[in-house]
Amino acid sequence: MAENSQKKPREDKEEKTEKKKKKEKGVSFLYKTENEQITRLRPTCERCGLGYFMGDHGDRYTCGHCGFTRYKVASENKNKHV
Ligand SMILES: [Zn+2]
Repeated sequence: MAENSQKKPREDKEEKTEKKKKKEKGVSFLYKTENEQITRLRPTCERCGLGYFMGDHGDRYTCGHCGFTRYKVASENKNKHV
């Protein structure tokens, strides 16, 4: 019996060492600094917790993580139901 256990040399794909572009393109657009105060432009998901921002869908926010939808509360059109 001939041993056919030819070990194929693993082709380790060399990861290209790409130079990281120094572009601060991250969560910076999610925040808005105003008067030295950081204002969250988007709400965070109540289910997933902080860090999971919800997408703006016009009249509602939707979490792309769990699908949680939260309708915007129109602060200007407060229903006078007290
Ligand atoms: Zn979520």
